Amino acid sequence: MSFLHLESLTKRYGNNVAVQDMSLDIAQGEFVSLLGPSGCGKTTTLQMIAGFVEPSRGRIWMNGDDITSCKPNQRGIGIVFQSYALFPHMTVAENVRFGLEMRKVPISESRQQVREALELVRLDHLEDRYPRELSGGQRQRVALARALVIRPPLLLLDEPLSNLDAQLRENMQIELRNIQQQVGTTTLMVTHDQSEALSLSDRVVVMNEGKVVQVDEPFSAYENPKNNFVSSFVGKTNLFACQIDQQVGSQAQVKLGDYQLEISVPSDMQGNQVQLSIRPEKLELTQEGTGQLNGRVRTRLFLGNHWLYQVDSSVGELLITQPNLGVQGAAVGDDVGISWQEGAVRILGEQAHD
Ligand code: ATP
Repeated sequence: MSFLHLESLTKRYGNNVAVQDMSLDIAQGEFVSLLGPSGCGKTTTLQMIAGFVEPSRGRIWMNGDDITSCKPNQRGIGIVFQSYALFPHMTVAENVRFGLEMRKVPISESRQQVREALELVRLDHLEDRYPRELSGGQRQRVALARALVIRPPLLLLDEPLSNLDAQLRENMQIELRNIQQQVGTTTLMVTHDQSEALSLSDRVVVMNEGKVVQVDEPFSAYENPKNNFVSSFVGKTNLFACQIDQQVGSQAQVKLGDYQLEISVPSDMQGNQVQLSIRPEKLELTQEGTGQLNGRVRTRLFLGNHWLYQVDSSVGELLITQPNLGVQGAAVGDDVGISWQEGAVRILGEQAHD
């Protein structure tokens, strides 16, 4: 039996369906992210699990108990919000102790637990400071310590790192993953940042318009996206609409501009219109005339460890990333070849609305 079980969870606001028929199982100790664009229902899902929003339909089970009708404070869930929500008039230690006081834990015990929680987030040296005397990253760590100190069976994180600048955010991602693995708390995080979801999670739940589109391990969601929505939302991609011209067994012929592409297909798709996807990092710029396609460089951005190219080709505009190997690559206006390895072009399993 899974630790957290969502069964056909639905939330309607008038005619608007914020979350539709969501079913999901999360195992004990797993780190799962809800990933999707703004308004797709991530926060509403989290709020229903926390008990702040009542589902219109469906049930929530935690550790074998139906908690759908329990009050938020009966659920014992730890929550960290984007805004930290620290009490400004309390010190770091008092903020972290708050949840224990609510549970009437004697001060002799809570002192040790607060110290342990602050050590976990490496803030034990700042316990007498007030939130206004802390950096954004430190405040976020206090919020995490405050949620973890009650040893919650489940930790809910709502965009916990989105107020931090890029560098700090990356550091905190690593720290958050380490802390979660150390404590082993089952964790569900909401984010619209795909790289954050991919780097932190055991599994990602990709949502769109209130519905779950794909649940997978990060590598699988990236390498085998179910449809064009996942393909474009989880990482960058180049998409092509094509027709399967000819199929023999699982091998099909597809025309990509002037190039006749052979591709593996999962079922009989002769004559079907399909979407093909190829990731920018799986394309390579070569000498003109030596690749599968030709094109001309329209834009080039230097991003430190790699270059991002926009290339006009016979099949339309292509995004191509090239590793920075310490030499200048193709420049704007250059005529180039574009090549890829066998297997780099993926056929998307089903069509989805854009
Ligand atoms: P974001 O990333 O912008 O926070 P989200 O994926 O968390 O978005 P939700 O906040 O869950 O999305 O909202 C899902 C949908 O439900 C949206 O269309 C939103 O406008 C609607 N919604 C959310 N709360 C309410 C409410 N209290 N009353 C009416 N509609 C609501």
